[in-house]
Amino acid sequence: MTFKDLGLSNALLKAIEEKGYTKPSPIQEKAIPKVLEGSDVLASAQTGTGKTAGFVLPILQLLDNDVDYRKRPIRSLIVTPTRELAAQIQQNVKEYGKHMDIKSMVMFGGVKQKPQVAQLREGVDILIATPGRLIDLNNQGFIDLKKVKVFVLDEADRMLDMGFVRDIQIIMTLLPERRQNLLFSATFSKEIRKLANGILTNPVSVEATPENTTVEVIKQKIIRMDKPRKTAFTIKMIEEGDWQQVLIFTRTKHGANKLCEKLNNKKISAMAIHGNKSQNHRTKALAQFKKGEVRVLVATDIAARGIDIPLLPHVINFEIPNISEDYVHRIGRTGRAGANGVAISLVDNDELMYIRDIEKLTRQKFEKEVIEGFEPTHINEADIKRPKGNQGQRSNRGSKNPNSKPGNKKHYHTNNSKKGGGNRGGGNSGKR
Ligand code: AMP
Repeated sequence: MTFKDLGLSNALLKAIEEKGYTKPSPIQEKAIPKVLEGSDVLASAQTGTGKTAGFVLPILQLLDNDVDYRKRPIRSLIVTPTRELAAQIQQNVKEYGKHMDIKSMVMFGGVKQKPQVAQLREGVDILIATPGRLIDLNNQGFIDLKKVKVFVLDEADRMLDMGFVRDIQIIMTLLPERRQNLLFSATFSKEIRKLANGILTNPVSVEATPENTTVEVIKQKIIRMDKPRKTAFTIKMIEEGDWQQVLIFTRTKHGANKLCEKLNNKKISAMAIHGNKSQNHRTKALAQFKKGEVRVLVATDIAARGIDIPLLPHVINFEIPNISEDYVHRIGRTGRAGANGVAISLVDNDELMYIRDIEKLTRQKFEKEVIEGFEPTHINEADIKRPKGNQGQRSNRGSKNPNSKPGNKKHYHTNNSKKGGGNRGGGNSGKR
């Protein structure tokens, strides 16, 4: 299947060629024809699958067919949870639409509203916005969404996690009754389905990967370790592996700062992005990381949402997320669009319950590794599956890959016997 087979116009085909894409990704193959024919679409796709082009390309084509060059009312509204994601989508709109006369605009809070108002007055075909500023400017009478033809809710699951449900409801009241709706989400909970039911009309469902499963090209490693050893091991991995571009996740802002400081002390350049950092700092950190000027980006889940870093080779889960869906999002930062990546999770005793939840959600069972020199002092007995007749010893089978860095690994399996599950409260949602 080629992009041409999907029915895209020459202007788009040219831009796609210039981007260097040779063939559509699975989600693009499935979503683009449906969007072009005017259907509502419910798409299960996470970052890294090429989902953005999956909606941006057909929207550009639909809008290009009848541009009102004089007034340019907003004809497509794309709502996203974070500023970074909004900026990234607009970048895509500009790149794919470079051979068309379509005006786009990105809108988010934390920056002055005046330039945004001025840009709105000049006319905008596609508006990409985060909910807060959108509603704010609407309340002030600067936005008219009554001419919207295509509405996109991107990363809907994250929207709900971030408490935007009320905002979404408000935004829906600003849109015309007759419109096309596209909803993208990496995971599908009961709440998401409820939200989708309220927004979409007879939607076509498209799926990039099966629900809640992690992308297969990503190699996932789960390493058991005591909490105080994680920093030393992380430094060792980066130094010995000579890793030049590493994304590290922590659960809390404080944890992100602390790790950053320790890495910098060891002359491994690192910057942190989280909710307490200014928009300027976040943009700068991301740009420097992308250019390779900063070797490590340490991020909390919310701050990392929507970051687009092509071909990211290494992701480290320094702390395991207490919200299982976050694991799927985190490792979606690597192995994107067909490239290989490694996601390494460092798991201490207290985090084993989170790993069990993740195993349940992603319907896989991890083989857990222990690294020589970094063995955990206490291994939860219930987590060790002992071979028959060997009640006293932990099963220490040799590494499957003895050459892989760093150190020698020992494998053992967990006895995933705990029933129940779901996401643990963890009580730190405010710290992320
Ligand atoms: P997304 O899932 O939209 O965040 O896209 C992930 C990455 O894949 C981005 O860097 C895109 O530029 C890239 N990408 C999107 N579509 C394709 C494609 N058909 N071939 C190769 N790369 C792509």
